[in-house]
Amino acid sequence: MDANLVIPFLDLVTPHLELEQDLSEVFCRSLSTAGFIGGVMVEGFEQSFATFCGTRHAVGVSSGTDALRFALMACGIQSGDAVVTVPNTFIATTEAITQAGAAPEFVDIDENTYTISIERLRHYLANDCTRNQFGRLISRRSKRLVTAVIPVHIYGQMADMDPILDLAEEYGIAVIEDACQAHGAEYFSRKRNCWMTAGSMGRVGAFSFYPGKNLGACGEAGAVTTDDGDIAARVRMLRDHGQVRKYYHDVEGYNGRLDAIQAGILSVKLKYLARWNGQRRAGARVYDELLEPFRGIVTIPGEASYSKSVYHLYVVRTSFRNELQAHLTDAGIGTGIHYPIPLHLQNAYAWMDRKIGEYPESEKAANQILSLPMFPGLTLGQQGRVAEAISQFAAKHASC
Ligand SMILES: *Cc1c(COP(=O)(O)O)cnc(C)c1O
Repeated sequence: MDANLVIPFLDLVTPHLELEQDLSEVFCRSLSTAGFIGGVMVEGFEQSFATFCGTRHAVGVSSGTDALRFALMACGIQSGDAVVTVPNTFIATTEAITQAGAAPEFVDIDENTYTISIERLRHYLANDCTRNQFGRLISRRSKRLVTAVIPVHIYGQMADMDPILDLAEEYGIAVIEDACQAHGAEYFSRKRNCWMTAGSMGRVGAFSFYPGKNLGACGEAGAVTTDDGDIAARVRMLRDHGQVRKYYHDVEGYNGRLDAIQAGILSVKLKYLARWNGQRRAGARVYDELLEPFRGIVTIPGEASYSKSVYHLYVVRTSFRNELQAHLTDAGIGTGIHYPIPLHLQNAYAWMDRKIGEYPESEKAANQILSLPMFPGLTLGQQGRVAEAISQFAAKHASC
């Protein structure tokens, strides 16, 4: 195959080459001051990212997984608690729950948005939980205290936050947004009558800046966003060995800081994020239109009326997933599956003893979803060739 005709799933090279000078300058500045950990570059990025998200605080940490773990711990989630989330997410969501000392419990997803199903969440809280003698919410199944829910803003689209926040208030649990795939995603809050940004609606938001995310570092990085000054202060302590002052440790913490070089790189790239997200959204509308004629074969992603997705991924659904993926691979088109096995069926969670069929929408999605090439510099020509390859596949299927 002609290398020029190959369409990557994700192009991480071009944007960095375009910004090479600014990015190299960050490195030189760091060398000249030996400011590698903390300092002005970290504080500068934290301020700009808080502004971008519309929160009072952003605290830089070493990864999205640490952001989730510190967010949970700062909200008071304790050893023995249960935290509710979906099976259709990257394992980091549940790893963070376990690392905070709690155990995950699952609620199925909505089949159109792939985010947590409000109906299932309401059902879980009302029927799968009960109150103990102190009025605290406990899981009937595990007998653990249920203390938080993590809605995952998957593929760039926010979960339906208004009813989640209402339910959380009614049942007295904390809401921690997993915004690792949703930097800059927006949600129209019917309650507040305004658009809100991912990471600004729950008590805390957690972001990853893994290189492939909408805002990516040149290495590992993450951030926690919140309006709550006490939570921000606790996260700052947790990321830095439990100290507020050097060598005065109030608690045991972690080595979970954000590198100055990564913070500087993120500050450079943050200036482009709105433009890049706009390009992703425009690319999604192009795909929507190009794929419309093949509705019988592929279902385009659903964007809820309350939502402006930032299309971290453009995920279609098809009953012929494996065949279509193989067909696109043969045509030189990169694809991905996010994710092929729902968490409750992963070996790592065999101890939970969940059965096939317990979370049917997550299981169905895992068998049918396919992520098409999606990144800011994706061209109309490339998208046309993806559609052309899908058209060939559709024709083949119509004739047999
Ligand atoms: C990437 C990701 C994470 C973890 O982020 P890391 O920076 O890789 O630790 C958590 N949750 C979701 C949904 C993600 O996509």
